[in-house]
Amino acid sequence: MTDGGAVAGYRIVENARLDARNTFGVHASAPMLVEVADAAALPELFGYAILRDGPVLVLGGGSNLLFAGDPQGAVLALGGQQVRIIEDDGGQAIVRADAGVEWHALVLWTLGHGLAGLENLALIPGTVGAAPIQNIGAYGVEVREHIHVVEAFDRTLGEVVRLARADCAFAYRDSLFKRDPDRYVVIAVEFVLQRDAAPRLEYAGLREELLAMGLDAAASDSARASQVAEAVCRIRRRKLPDPAVLGNAGSFFKNPIVPAAQAEALQATHASLPVFRGGDDATRKLSAAWLIDACGWKGFREGDAGVAASHALVLVNHGQASGAQLLDLAQRIATSVRERFGVGLEPEPRIIGATW
Ligand SMILES: Cc1cc2nc3c(=O)[nH]c(=O)nc-3n(C[C@H](O)[C@H](O)[C@H](O)COP(=O)(O)OP(=O)(O)OC[C@H]3O[C@@H](n4cnc5c(N)ncnc54)[C@H](O)[C@@H]3O)c2cc1C
Repeated sequence: MTDGGAVAGYRIVENARLDARNTFGVHASAPMLVEVADAAALPELFGYAILRDGPVLVLGGGSNLLFAGDPQGAVLALGGQQVRIIEDDGGQAIVRADAGVEWHALVLWTLGHGLAGLENLALIPGTVGAAPIQNIGAYGVEVREHIHVVEAFDRTLGEVVRLARADCAFAYRDSLFKRDPDRYVVIAVEFVLQRDAAPRLEYAGLREELLAMGLDAAASDSARASQVAEAVCRIRRRKLPDPAVLGNAGSFFKNPIVPAAQAEALQATHASLPVFRGGDDATRKLSAAWLIDACGWKGFREGDAGVAASHALVLVNHGQASGAQLLDLAQRIATSVRERFGVGLEPEPRIIGATW
């Protein structure tokens, strides 16, 4: 296997440092990094034994993973940057974006073309290719609501497949792709977006932020999608540490989903515990941030591994923490929540090089 160069559509870097390729900023390296500029090269690449037979980590912006150790096999990074409208009936359009496109850049591109739908997901770090993996969500919207098709290279079949939304098994921070991480390499995602859609303002704080921006509350139902995106960006900049300044991967834990009876029992003794609908009548979703805060972890620091002072869900690297130290802290947090509340926490980022 040789360096493909520009003609073959990929480039190989041996012993690649990944420190700058993960938003925790922890040290990691890979025996081989393959930068794929043209996804048409994937069938050829997966013909080589090292990719065909070994573990392969597909890496986007590294904003939803923790290198607790080095990845064992090759790392693949997709570079495709094309975004285009492939269907448009004047009211609804389908936008196709390559996996390598930066997510927030796509949100701005769609808004700039008068297309609404992704505005509540503004400023989420990472790439388009990673968006379906955990079905990214924020401010009352999940990306699955707007996914039309995910196009991926299927390592099991050895060919490119097109999966419709219903085939992707999307759930809260979950999908077919997340459950079977070695099978699919997402090449492009097609989104269905509207030219005239009512804004989604039910999430706490959004209407207030629009008001603070000087937009009339009465008019906020007809707020333009780009104003909603701006409101979301303002809230996010206040609440979440910027990974460029303080290494982090956003929320480290998913909100736990528990039986409704357990949620009610917990609320009977802890009236301030926020409880949300769990997706069906029998379950409820609890605020992981509240549970962690109640155990006293907010602002905790040990060496350079810590919990953000502004948000109990966000683990941070103050400088030189290793991935293993951050994982150890996360496990201690989960243990304390389990011991105090009887609730298990699951990490949201993918853990590389160790098991949870
Ligand atoms: C400050 C901050 C705030 C955040 N806020 C949110 C939020 O509000 N909501 C939310 O849902 N997430 C949030 N996240 C998490 C993260 O931004 C998203 O999960 C994002 O989609 C990850 O994109 P990425 O390109 O960085 O993926 P990576 O971290 O590189 O990869 C994440 C996973 O996706 C897989 N993957 C990546 N690209 C591909 C591909 N092309 N094909 C197949 N698999 C692939 C990887 O193998 C890995 O399993 C936040 C993170 C940070 C740092």
